[in-house]
Amino acid sequence: MRTPLATLGIIAAGALTLAACDSLPGMGGASAALDIPEVEAGDIAEATIKDVTRLLSSDEFEGRMPGTPGEEKTIALLTERFKAAGLQPGNNGSWVQDVPLVEITGKDYAPLTITGKGAPMSLAFAKNWVGVTYREDAKTTLKDSELVFVGYGINAPEKGWNDYAGVDVKGKTVVILVNDPDWQTAGQEGPFGGKAMTYYGRWTYKYEEAARQGAAGALIVHQTAPASYGWNVVESSWTGPQAYPQYGDNPPPRTQMNGWVTEDAASKLLKAAGQDLGALTKAAQAKGFKPVPLGMKLSTGFASTMRSFTSHNIIGILPGSEAPEEYVLHTAHWDHLGRCTPAPDGDDICNGAVDNATGTAALVALAEAHGKAGAPRRTLVFLAVTAEESGLLGAYYYAANPVFPLAQTVGGVNMDALQMAGPAKDVTAVGFGKSALDQFLDAALKADGRTVTPDPKPEAGYYYRSDHFAFAKLGVPMLYIDGGQDLIEGGRAAGEAVAKDYTDNRYHGPKDAFNEAWDWSGVMADLQLYYRLGRMMATSKSWPNWNDGDEFRAVRDESCKAADKGC
Ligand SMILES: [Zn+2]
Repeated sequence: MRTPLATLGIIAAGALTLAACDSLPGMGGASAALDIPEVEAGDIAEATIKDVTRLLSSDEFEGRMPGTPGEEKTIALLTERFKAAGLQPGNNGSWVQDVPLVEITGKDYAPLTITGKGAPMSLAFAKNWVGVTYREDAKTTLKDSELVFVGYGINAPEKGWNDYAGVDVKGKTVVILVNDPDWQTAGQEGPFGGKAMTYYGRWTYKYEEAARQGAAGALIVHQTAPASYGWNVVESSWTGPQAYPQYGDNPPPRTQMNGWVTEDAASKLLKAAGQDLGALTKAAQAKGFKPVPLGMKLSTGFASTMRSFTSHNIIGILPGSEAPEEYVLHTAHWDHLGRCTPAPDGDDICNGAVDNATGTAALVALAEAHGKAGAPRRTLVFLAVTAEESGLLGAYYYAANPVFPLAQTVGGVNMDALQMAGPAKDVTAVGFGKSALDQFLDAALKADGRTVTPDPKPEAGYYYRSDHFAFAKLGVPMLYIDGGQDLIEGGRAAGEAVAKDYTDNRYHGPKDAFNEAWDWSGVMADLQLYYRLGRMMATSKSWPNWNDGDEFRAVRDESCKAADKGC
């Protein structure tokens, strides 16, 4: 994940008001009486999650970068453990689904030079800016590309909002703010859902829109608060090899260069243009904002090496007894950053213990427990996806090329960066209030006596930052839950302290390593919850749907209508 759930501060738990309606029989929105069967607790082995997490996050796996020996070792370990758990190969006799990717590595970066007003500015790579190309170009050159400030860079016709209105940015470089225009709103009111980030706030969307507008370059201004992570994360995630889908002959629109610039460098650049970042930000937050040509030009260049390779999603199934053509997903990404910016002690392996060796090991522990409990009514799918750290690529590839039709996929639970701070009185549910899966969650939580804490940092857009989003975007209802922060030992303060230490010192760095002193009892409770949710969905006869008005409801209803069986 490009920002960990574990960093969440916490708001007091409380029942959420759920939107209420359902369109098709058995296909339940919030209010539909769904078939939610009681299920037994699972026989889950702590040794399994511990041993598999330790192995996956060992230096031997070298940070599990797609397309490296670390991938081969991960595939071998998971297929061996899935087989031992009694699963069957999930992809027509194969344990893997090929995911064609291309790795592009930028090098020989020229400084970013800005000319036009006053003395030319020269920005140093990695220190003041980072940039990559999504194109398989050996050489990227931007020469005197005109700079245009486009506010939040959003074109949302359904909201009557267009930050590109009246300006042609073809061949130019756009300067963009991160998050939504109303991210500083206290509540959830506002054109973009107030405090809660919408997909328009995500860096992925910003680059997609800039490319659609024909821009040659797109630079996002990094500000820690609206981005929800520091420059260190940008610098480590955006330098070195980057993986992208192989688009073949029909690629989507792409700029020549996508990147970030530090807040300090952006302020200086805008000041030189006679503008003020604060004043421009204010203007950009108001409807009717007009893009601002800066009268400055940007030049830079760098080379890139390309390596096309095939990475893999790993898939095992426990076929259903009565409705084997109805599918329930347990998902987790197995990949991480590989070798990364070294720590002061020289350690340069990003082991990715929490992110996401824990979630991947959880898939194995759940497979064993479901295997021991025998086949449920529907088929359980255990899906370990690749290249999440590069933009959910394995999940997007599966969703676009599903082994099991999405209309016959009931829903699922995603696991990313399990909470290792110890047992908590609550769980954190990102996306709570979006679908009738909440009713399954409520029922499962009754069994373990914990409460739901809704996403306390909706401004960080966590629902868009891990693999469940790739499935949700094509209509499959997905839950994303993690252990809470209201720890039994030490309460919220203790939970938040662990979260802060993780974000500041470990996340996406060499120090996200296995800790022999970890207390696994919290994770074991969370595994029991994931087990119950999967078992309930796989035993139920219902098709839980997104709530009325939710951003994913329409695509689900469409895919159900178009299908001759399933939802
Ligand atoms: Zn992750």
